[in-house]
Amino acid sequence: MPDFSGKKVLVLGLGESGKASAALLRAAGAIARVSESSAGPGMELKKKELQDLGIDIEIGANTSAFCAGAELVVTSPGVDIKALRERGVIERDVPVIGELELGYLFCKAPIVAVTGTNGKSTTCRLIGNMLTEAGVHNIVCGNIGNPLSGEVDKLGDKSVAVVEVSSYQLETIKDFQPYIALLLNITEDHYDRHVNMEQYRVAKFRIFMNQSGADWAIMNGSMREDPLLSGVKAKVRFFGREGDGVAIHGRDVHILTKGLADAVIKGEDMPMSGEHNLENVASSAMVCQILGVDSGAIIKGVKSFHPLEHRFQTVATYGGVDFIDDSKATNIDATARALGSLDKKVVLIAGGRDKGGDYAAIKGLVGDKVSAFVLIGEAAQRISGTFEKTVPCYFARDMADAVSRSATLARPGEVVMLSPMCSSFDMYKNYKERGLDFRKAVDTVTRIPVTKGGV
Ligand code: ADP
Repeated sequence: MPDFSGKKVLVLGLGESGKASAALLRAAGAIARVSESSAGPGMELKKKELQDLGIDIEIGANTSAFCAGAELVVTSPGVDIKALRERGVIERDVPVIGELELGYLFCKAPIVAVTGTNGKSTTCRLIGNMLTEAGVHNIVCGNIGNPLSGEVDKLGDKSVAVVEVSSYQLETIKDFQPYIALLLNITEDHYDRHVNMEQYRVAKFRIFMNQSGADWAIMNGSMREDPLLSGVKAKVRFFGREGDGVAIHGRDVHILTKGLADAVIKGEDMPMSGEHNLENVASSAMVCQILGVDSGAIIKGVKSFHPLEHRFQTVATYGGVDFIDDSKATNIDATARALGSLDKKVVLIAGGRDKGGDYAAIKGLVGDKVSAFVLIGEAAQRISGTFEKTVPCYFARDMADAVSRSATLARPGEVVMLSPMCSSFDMYKNYKERGLDFRKAVDTVTRIPVTKGGV
């Protein structure tokens, strides 16, 4: 365990990760203080909670007077450290780490770290479920809502920490060394933060940075030729149709022992659909195979899995039309995977806050699968600009309008799907609120007879 007693540590940011870091540091005997630049009623409540633990806190600004004298800074995703250094708020030579690194320093359990553009939450939960079926104590945590720092006291050396890791968190690691690191995929996202694709890929590969030859690196089969592989010291395994140890065959996933199929996870036993979920199942099985979980528990873990809300989830069928909530599809690839998984025509509700991605990349798929777009939010014009010559594009005022228009447009045998390709922040607090609004509108539409015909 690292010795933090009497150490002066400044925590920047009072979100979930800042709160968890400060509480962990305080419990470890550090002199922790928290500086949060925004203010508001919610912050006052959190301030009170931390003050009750004996932690000093400032909200509404990061002042030099409060931040000076720290021996270590623990930062939260989104904090602009460079600007704070330039303003002299953080002294130049003070080391800065993120919450993930702090949690790692205190974690007694082996860590399975999962990153990628899409599928992180689903895969982490799947791994957790397989481990639970095998009787292995585990905690699924990280970027999924409960930071590792807030869970370390519950993780013993017989447990497994299954940690969802974002590329932002990987920017502020130093020694973070997961026993198994899983990189699911890298596709275009977060153009608003990472300057270009190369920088984003380098950030993702940092998950392998501190691993040794005793650790494992699991990657998508599409990365076999990746030049960044040369820097990976861990034992590498690839998942996919040509997977090592676990392989996707048709709609099934085969678990292999010495090259022979030892057990089969049948597609019909998987409670979620789509090629992307086959990849999530295969990579989870590979992680658990390395951890020594037997095939029976892996299969049980898939069968008893409860698919996560707002991820390619059929929420109603009415008048021969399926309504699918894929509100968590906040980038182009997630929507492409959803479209690619459907063998029906789709009226696609898309739009929201634009991330600057290249919609034209999926023109072919849209031409094949989408019968009409119904567009919402800030990105509506840009999306229609890309696709209006390929399929009809309609604009909707809000979600209720979008769903009722879509229901009118969809013919029996078609699908109405919310899969926005954009973040929700222009209209909603988050993707959950957007998904719930979609469902509310679907409820309204499916209770009243839908009139077919043009708009
Ligand atoms: P994350 O935590 O990385 O955002 P989620 O499991 O929450 O991933 O899924 C986010 C979106 O990506 C959903 O629309 C889901 O259907 C889609 N998705 C899930 N797994 C994958 C995958 N392996 N590849 C591409 N898209 C995926």
